[in-house]
Amino acid sequence: MKELIKRAHNFSAGPSALPLEVLQKAQEELTDFRGNGMSVMELSHRSAAFEEVHNQAIATLRSLLSISEDYEVLFLQGGASLQFSMVPMNFLQPDKSAAIVMTGAWSEKALEEAKYFGQPYEAASTKAENYRRIPTFDELKYKPSDAYVHITSNNTIFGTQWNDFPDTGDVPLIADMSSDILSKPFDVNKFALIYAGAQKNLGPSGVTVVIIRKDMIDKANKNIPTMLRYSTHAKNNSLYNTPPTFGIYMLGQVLEWAQGIGGLEAVAKRNQEKAALIYDAIDASQGFYVGHAEPNSRSLMNITFRVSNEELEKKFLAEAKKEGFVGVNGHRSVGGCRASTYNAVPYESCLAFREFMLQFQKVNG
Ligand SMILES: *Cc1c(COP(=O)(O)O)cnc(C)c1O
Repeated sequence: MKELIKRAHNFSAGPSALPLEVLQKAQEELTDFRGNGMSVMELSHRSAAFEEVHNQAIATLRSLLSISEDYEVLFLQGGASLQFSMVPMNFLQPDKSAAIVMTGAWSEKALEEAKYFGQPYEAASTKAENYRRIPTFDELKYKPSDAYVHITSNNTIFGTQWNDFPDTGDVPLIADMSSDILSKPFDVNKFALIYAGAQKNLGPSGVTVVIIRKDMIDKANKNIPTMLRYSTHAKNNSLYNTPPTFGIYMLGQVLEWAQGIGGLEAVAKRNQEKAALIYDAIDASQGFYVGHAEPNSRSLMNITFRVSNEELEKKFLAEAKKEGFVGVNGHRSVGGCRASTYNAVPYESCLAFREFMLQFQKVNG
């Protein structure tokens, strides 16, 4: 009989919850990985055993997202934060512009880094509204001569998410999908490049997934350091240097888990149900809880809200912690409360948090 394992209700923004089944499988395989007499961490990254892990992870991601042969899938390091620099380093030039859609703190970083290499400008911004919403497609301003349009598909800190993606025609569309990749099906073909740090929905920190259209690799700048060229990693199947092997193994396991529970349609349905539990508690509270995002921009991954009375908010956060809900404090730049309900956060945790919210209001409202 399996022991009952006490798992925290983990609502952390990242690193965040991993599926228990994945952790258990990793534990089982830890000291003797598939008959190799060593852990996956101890395998050479040039060994056939690791190569299989690596290529299987790529294949599973391709299958889950229906990624065509027009794209390369890369596993890089440096987090999404290095992509803020690598994207403009590869595609901008001093006299070239890029349109950055400003929807939160991460977009601001994408804009700041691009300034080192060219002329980024704001394609739209909802900063004046404290990033409460995603701009409409009509609000987006970009030019045919732009090197790219950059969006942040889910705004981890403010709790907003794009429901649909614009068609930018011949201007390459680039997305930071760190906090919602794999949370629902979407059409990869709209994008020239997608990047995501793994530690929200894909696995442990240390791996960054990049999905890049092959024509982008060809037209990238050549006069940049080897490790920072997409072409280096594409040519070498992300094995130019030692990759984060354990992270890639875990990523592969998480991808297979998502496939096993029914693929992205099933994952999306679960995510909607989970988020609805908490948003409904906010909406039914008659102002006791106040959601940060406008309803049609709400994120299914990061639910941001305030308790209307500040003293009570402190009490709410303290009690949530005492009751075993981890990571519910809002980001240090925004304050308030945030429940991150990524793919691996169980329905039961969301239900328990909803019950806690209702009970807290009943006693304190
Ligand atoms: C977490 C996050 C980042 C930063 O990722 P690092 O891997 O820490 O560099 C960037 N963008 C978004 C949308 C994020 O959620």
